[in-house]
Amino acid sequence: MKKKLIFACILAILIICLICLDKVILDKKDTLKYDKVIKLNVGDKIIYSISNDTTIKWDNIKDEDGIIYYTGTYKGVISYKNKEYPITMIVEDKEKPTIEGSHDIETNVGSEVDLYDGVTISDNSHDEIKKEIVGSYDFNKTGIYNLTIKVTDKSGNEESSDFKLTVKEKNKKINSKTSSKGYKIEEISGITYVNGILIANKTYSLPQTYNPGGLLKDFTDNFELMRKDALKEGVKLKVVSGFRSYDIQNNLYNRYVARDGKKEADTYSARPGHSEHQTGLAADINSVDNNFGETKEGKWLSDNCYKYGFILRYPKGKESITGYIYESWHIRYVGDIAKELYNNGNWISLEEYLGITSQYK
Ligand SMILES: [Zn+2]
Repeated sequence: MKKKLIFACILAILIICLICLDKVILDKKDTLKYDKVIKLNVGDKIIYSISNDTTIKWDNIKDEDGIIYYTGTYKGVISYKNKEYPITMIVEDKEKPTIEGSHDIETNVGSEVDLYDGVTISDNSHDEIKKEIVGSYDFNKTGIYNLTIKVTDKSGNEESSDFKLTVKEKNKKINSKTSSKGYKIEEISGITYVNGILIANKTYSLPQTYNPGGLLKDFTDNFELMRKDALKEGVKLKVVSGFRSYDIQNNLYNRYVARDGKKEADTYSARPGHSEHQTGLAADINSVDNNFGETKEGKWLSDNCYKYGFILRYPKGKESITGYIYESWHIRYVGDIAKELYNNGNWISLEEYLGITSQYK
């Protein structure tokens, strides 16, 4: 008895399913009942089945064996008993594209390479996919550039993949060591990178000739995003000191030494070549003042800057590690690892994270 009941139920469900497939229904009064707008996902088959005396015609539909691979809004007409009924089909794409084969790239200075070489980008839709390289780089300047391939499909679904572009001097071997945390320390044309992050501190200096000419795009683009978000919360942020060249830092440092003596000056000002301001990736925000950290702006910066790839470069209590006093106003762009350094508000210094020192030789 029970078995029969279960069987009957399954049969009923199957019948209901079959009826559901048949989306155009005629009611008892012989009028057409149907969904005026149907929604499909890319890759779906059109299952708008119809009775014998009914036809559907779609305008400009691009299907492959009844499967729709292109997003968009399609208009159609159902014809029944010499009458026409308009119908709309919306095809959406909710899946993000995929990136395969992204890898680190090495090239010699002056030799351009295809940054998409070996990379396969695909999407469930057959719409055009927008691809771009995020981050700044220069094939004519040695360095390690942290870049991202970003792809966006027509529906705005995004995917990204990080990679490093190393531009090295021709025939010049990269000096490579390992930090105490196991990260690669590479010196390329006098510039030190640890795990691909450009380092300027008391141990590692930049050559006098290193001059990006201003704050780099990584800094300015992300700062602009942060500035706008802060403003929405009534917090005004601005850069008061950004890029400083080797020569400017030289003048500044010598002025401080003349005023406070070398020992004192070394606690708050960098010797030329050792300043983060020369990297083009660091800046002082709002006010170079010990009280800044206690202001609304200072607190917001400390709590939120990591979301935009920035770190408080000289955190409180890390003076002996970074070699500098706590600077609530000095931020540095590092990208994704900022979140780990933020450490839920207990900032870790870049030196601790990477396992490197900051001491003058
Ligand atoms: Zn600074």
